[in-house]
Parts: sequence; structure tokens; C-alpha cells
Amino acid sequence: MSKVSANPYKGIDPRSYFLAHHMDMIHDPLVLRQLLDTEVHNWVPDLKGVAIIALTAAWWEKEPHSVTELGIAELPLPVPYDGTGDFDHAVFEKIEGIFMQVKAIHARIKPNAHLFNKFPGSGNPDKFNFGRTVFVNIEEARQGLLSILCRPGIQGPGFQPVVLVGHAIHNHIARINEAFKLDILSLGSVIKVLDTQSLAKDVGIKPPKGTNISLMDLSRHFGMIPDNLHTAGNDVVHILINAVFASLQSHPFGFGSNNRTVGDFTERINMLVNRMMQVGKVYPPQNWGTLLFCTRCDRDNHLKESCHAAYICCTICVNSPNMRNRKGARSHQTAKCIFAPVPESKD
Ligand SMILES: [Zn+2]
Ligand SMILES: [Zn+2]
Repeated sequence: MSKVSANPYKGIDPRSYFLAHHMDMIHDPLVLRQLLDTEVHNWVPDLKGVAIIALTAAWWEKEPHSVTELGIAELPLPVPYDGTGDFDHAVFEKIEGIFMQVKAIHARIKPNAHLFNKFPGSGNPDKFNFGRTVFVNIEEARQGLLSILCRPGIQGPGFQPVVLVGHAIHNHIARINEAFKLDILSLGSVIKVLDTQSLAKDVGIKPPKGTNISLMDLSRHFGMIPDNLHTAGNDVVHILINAVFASLQSHPFGFGSNNRTVGDFTERINMLVNRMMQVGKVYPPQNWGTLLFCTRCDRDNHLKESCHAAYICCTICVNSPNMRNRKGARSHQTAKCIFAPVPESKD
């Protein structure tokens, strides 16, 4: 069994300290299974009030790898499961009910939102499938993260305990810490860090190539064909879904038991994802940032598709010997030119 990290808890709340120790002692896939209250045989402590929060970032492929997007999705606390019934009728139905309440946040970082990646499979940040994108500045993103990760606990003096879920999460935590001057694991709320790559290994899901499975390949294992990954809002929802399904793969009533295979659930999983997209578009957007921001002229009353600002011209590109650069000179301001020299990266 692999562990992403040692017990991460650095707070002072005795209950969180106890829960962090408990989660450190059990097999990682059991953490979500216990939180989702699907366990009927194992002893489980009172997990009331623990938040399950998936977090991911996207950053520009070139130096200095500026963070361009954040994706955050919280799995609401489950209703108790009475332990009766069969996996596909009781547990799966319950999981569907929980996922239908997920309100994912896709926040694009205003000073970096004009930076688009071009690598094969790079996502289009204009296309968030599970809700409405918001644009935030650095401080708004920092405050938004703090408001989610440092909520008052419902029991005891400390913060609400958080189980943080991600894909290659330590890379993302490092980028977020640097970009927003926020040391997530030192805030005193995170009691457990779960990584979908490690969960996949724990339950025997093999990557088709390499040692760590990609989010696309893991999604495919469960029969999903995700649309437009590598943009943080879509990634974070698939991280949450894959983390839960990977944890359930080893469930005694789960995929793989009673001659059931993942394939038996493919249709239902895809229906779930489709419904999440429909419902996500109906939920009101999160109350951080603005719905409109133009990555061309920096105004926040329109998107770049409807930008009529006439004065935009990059002095670097307009004077470039390269004709393609000269042609693109009116697409951005000089201060945001991707052909300008960038500061040395610190890592
Ligand atoms: Zn504009
Ligand atoms: Zn330029």
C-alpha cells in the first residue's frame, strides 16, 4: 500500500488530530469509503463535519509557469447509509445523489488568463462543462481558497477538518502555495491528502503506459470519455469522481464483486456525468470574482469574443521581425506579451 504523504495535520484541534491519526493508519481507499459511510463491518470513528475537497490548478506550459486556473469541488456530506441492500442499488444510488449536489468552482486568474497552452491534449479554459467560470485576481483567489479551507469547525475550537483530494496533488499544492502565498498544508485544517494516482495503484488499476496513470486514462478505466480535460474546472470534477470510484473499486460490494465489472456500471457512470453537467449549469455561480473579464483589454464587462477595444497593440509584437507576431500584435497589450522576456523561474 502506498501513501501519498505522512499525516499532514499541523493544527491544534484534538478531534482533528485524532481523525488525522485514524486516517493515517488505514488504507487510503478506505478513507473515502468511510467518509461516504458505505462501511458496515469496520469500526469507524465519528466523521461528522469532515469536508471532502478536491483541488487542482492549471498553469502555463512555459516559464514562469504562472497559475492560470483553479478548480475546486466539494463532495457534500452524505446521508447515512443503513447498510442494507446491494451495491448497485444502495451504494451507487447514494453516490449519485451526493454527486448531483457538487458545485464545482472554475476560477481563471485575471493577470494570467490570456495564457493558453498548446501541448497535445491541453484544455480550452473557455469551456467549463460543469458550471460557470469566474475570473479572479490573485488576492480574490487567495481569499476564496482560505474561505473554503479554513471554515469554523462544527465541533471543537479548530477549523473544519478537510480531506484534500487531487491528481498528482503535491505538484498542484506547490504551485498554488507559490502563486497565492498560501501554505495549504500549514493552515491547520487538512487532516488527510488523497491522490488519485496513488488510489489507482492501491486498488490495482494499471496505467497503460508509465508508472503514474493520467486523469484521462483513469477516467477511461471507469468508462468515462471526459471532454476537455487539462482545464482546471473539468479536471477537478473528474478527480472527485475518479477518487470515489477508485475507492469503491475495493469495496466488498463494489466493482469486481459478485461477478460485476466496471463495465456493468459504464452507462450509469456516463449518465451521472451528463446529469452533473446539466445541473452544474443551472446552479448559480460562486460568489467570488466576476463572470465577465476580457483577456484582451482587461475590462470586466465583456468577454474577449466581444471585445471592441481599438487601442490594443503590443509594441513588442508590432516591431517583431516575425510576420506572425506582427499579425498578432493587436490581440494583447504589451504588458501581457508572451514573447517578452520573463523572469527566471525559482524552481
Ligand atoms: Zn476587451
Ligand atoms: Zn506581444
